[in-house]
Amino acid sequence: MDIQKYYETLFPYRQFFLWLNHAAVPTRDFTHREFAFTVLNGQGSDIYVRYQSFPTIETFKRKVAMLTPKRFEIGAVYTAKPSDHKLVSPEKYVAVNKELVFDLDLSDYDSFRTCCQGKQVCLKCWQFVVVAMDVLGAIFDLDFGYKHILWAFSGRRGVHAWVCDTRARSLDDSQRGQLLNYIQVTQKYEKGKLVINRPWHPSVQRSFDICKVKFDQIVLQDQNPWNTHANSSYLLNKLKQVNEALYAKLNEKWQEPSTSREKWMDIDQTAREIAAEGKLDTLGAKVLLETKQDIVLEFLYPKLDTNVSISRQHLLKSPFCVHPDTGNVCVPINPLTSRTFDPTKVPTLATLADSSILEPYLSVFKQFVTELNRSEKRPSSSLDF
Ligand SMILES: [Zn+2]
Repeated sequence: MDIQKYYETLFPYRQFFLWLNHAAVPTRDFTHREFAFTVLNGQGSDIYVRYQSFPTIETFKRKVAMLTPKRFEIGAVYTAKPSDHKLVSPEKYVAVNKELVFDLDLSDYDSFRTCCQGKQVCLKCWQFVVVAMDVLGAIFDLDFGYKHILWAFSGRRGVHAWVCDTRARSLDDSQRGQLLNYIQVTQKYEKGKLVINRPWHPSVQRSFDICKVKFDQIVLQDQNPWNTHANSSYLLNKLKQVNEALYAKLNEKWQEPSTSREKWMDIDQTAREIAAEGKLDTLGAKVLLETKQDIVLEFLYPKLDTNVSISRQHLLKSPFCVHPDTGNVCVPINPLTSRTFDPTKVPTLATLADSSILEPYLSVFKQFVTELNRSEKRPSSSLDF
């Protein structure tokens, strides 16, 4: 199917409108919403067209049909119509509302995955995304009480999360920054060592519990990052900071080939041996345990592109767009079945000859939009800012 036909016949305009508009007739959530299109010019290079806004979904659809964009992005709701932004003074053109969005991309996991690099993705490294979705999903729900999160495949090697609860949409940039700061617990390093205050915040403990369960399968078995002595330096350097005797013994032992899983188990075994020799005290044992916990978080805790989340003016590719390079449709992902989602088998323009392939994803989206709109307690006066 070509892209024009896709946007004419398969893109779910009605649900898309209800998702962003939160009501059946156009409100400012739609009419004052910024859209941006990426289109090809005659010379084959991209043109980025910002500040687009539309009075109705029909006018939006006509524009899409006319431009046949490579992709389009969704921005904030402004105090004036984005298409009028040059007609009003800057202080009257201010972003007021936007879904709280998160961008998770496997290219940020390149130093933690061995199966693929860069633009590649496979079912093994996709499990990093699945764990990140579990951790973030629990934070959204249990720490912030957000209930309406739309997860969408970003088209190649990541996901976008759209937190659509009214409370989340009205956060200003500074509040979004604070929220990101709360979530980004694995960002602070001192001398190459992760710094997370202990005792842990209950949220960190819960995230760790989610990650720990998956560490053996995803990291030790599937990624097997420390399968030779040479590539065990990450682990050895961490252990050297804990205890020299432990480091020396393991450095010696790991000259012989062994798997990452065997090495991970060697750590505790060797720690017991040197403790019996009086070379590891209780404090040292505690630091060792914390170091191992940090490694679990370092590998599996979500790695986020923060700028996308903090600035309301930042635009993000719409769900159901087609990724221009892969031809993949950016389909929603049901978080309850995220484990079985296979990024290498999503519908593509090439496989979409039969529209029924898209049906399960349309159904996820429709259900999400219905529940979101049911939760919107929007008195008629709130249509005006
Ligand atoms: Zn992979």
